Amino acid sequence: MTLPPAPKARLIVGLEIHVQLRTATKLFCGCAVRFGAPPNSLTCPVCLGHPGALPVLNREALRCAAKTAMALGCRILPRTSWDRKSYWYPDLPKNYQISQNEFPVGLEGAVELPRADGSVKTVRIRRVHLEEDAGKSLHDAPDATLVDLNRAGTALLEIVTAPDIASPEEAGDLAREIRRIVRYLGVADADMQKGHMRLEPNVNCAVELDGAEARTPIVEIKNLNSFRALEAAVAFEFERQTAAYLADPAYTLERRGKESRGWDEAALATFVQRRKEEAHEYRCFPDPDLAPYEWIAGELDELARETPELPQARRRRLARELGIGQGDALLIAEDRATGDLFEAAVAAGACPQTLAKHFINLWTRLAKDAGTTIAGLKLDAGALAELARLQTDGAVSATAARLIAEAMARTRAAPRALAQRLGLTRLSDRTALLPLVKEAIAANPKAAAQYRAGGGKAAKSLGFLQGRVMRLSGGRADPAVAAALLREELGPQLG
Ligand code: ZN
Ligand code: MN
Repeated sequence: MTLPPAPKARLIVGLEIHVQLRTATKLFCGCAVRFGAPPNSLTCPVCLGHPGALPVLNREALRCAAKTAMALGCRILPRTSWDRKSYWYPDLPKNYQISQNEFPVGLEGAVELPRADGSVKTVRIRRVHLEEDAGKSLHDAPDATLVDLNRAGTALLEIVTAPDIASPEEAGDLAREIRRIVRYLGVADADMQKGHMRLEPNVNCAVELDGAEARTPIVEIKNLNSFRALEAAVAFEFERQTAAYLADPAYTLERRGKESRGWDEAALATFVQRRKEEAHEYRCFPDPDLAPYEWIAGELDELARETPELPQARRRRLARELGIGQGDALLIAEDRATGDLFEAAVAAGACPQTLAKHFINLWTRLAKDAGTTIAGLKLDAGALAELARLQTDGAVSATAARLIAEAMARTRAAPRALAQRLGLTRLSDRTALLPLVKEAIAANPKAAAQYRAGGGKAAKSLGFLQGRVMRLSGGRADPAVAAALLREELGPQLG
């Protein structure tokens, strides 16, 4: 008996990412953008949708959007314009959202994601556009839904990728890279806890069965606000859709079209939501209150000049300069301030390779323990450079450097002073080391005999005795001096 061929399923994901821009005021009015203000205190006739109130474009938001689109490799349209996307919802007082349909800020870019094996995955960007956010419906009152319009009209950047993502991890990696990019650019805080970044994956599967390939319906999962939820929701949909198609061959894109689903964080499952509006139901049309914007000569060049080195370029350069992998470079260039701190410490005289080891092995962990980034530890570049120099010069061992780093994070004292105070400076003084060398030989006669006998085991025995001296000195002995003293004390070898 032969088993039927196992179905092969492939995951297809495109991502829509909404990022709240860090502008002082909203997209089309002068109301302040601030998290946690009393409900409805940051509103005016424009963002409340009063009849006759006229929107005025916030040019700073448009510049932030163009910077991001350029950083994502997009083509910037010379003329960008505004459309009304009509729908009704209690937190949308105008009954339409001002968005960009026909002429977005940017089109056709790409993002490169570093992979663990050192290769790079490219995800195409379809478009980058600006739109206004809606308010918030608050469902925590016992018998009413309350509406807070402080967020209504704040500037949102929407980034839409092509369906190039092939695994839940790639979806997470892409979202994290977008967050790095907008933070490097300084256009957004992208604080997930504050809802600054919302993720909506479009997920379906290609299932191959009996030599034919079918596509499951495209499911848009709404409003995910953590990378963990994104990865879990995509993984869940992959399983669910594959199983749904295998149970019912009519569960296909042709028959069912698109659907919207929500994510239940407690159940770790998606659930059916309202039917997704068809594009024509939004009745998009150009907003008669807003003129299209045409970029002025030189304006885009100026934005390009203001753009810093981006995460991927910095990782590549660091990996090449330091001879480290992309994964390690990612830790140094995770955020712009940490990358800048690294470069400042190198400029202050640190050996780049030792400093890189400290960033990767010491500082990353200490920052994580403190719930911040390496730059967030607020240690100055001079101190980081000094610690690296102490180790490079052989004044302290790698083990001692770790203990000093921990003390620096706690006390902010200077590394040289800490090395003295904690008794961690290296022992290279022969008179001080000689008693320890004698003690190591006396306590390990077998290793001493093996060294003196010469032959294959001699080098290993010497290494063993050297290790004993290191231990007796609390890790402070200079290994080279210890080895020289051991050779002298053990005397000539046979053979
Ligand atoms: Zn307003
Ligand atoms: Mn949108």
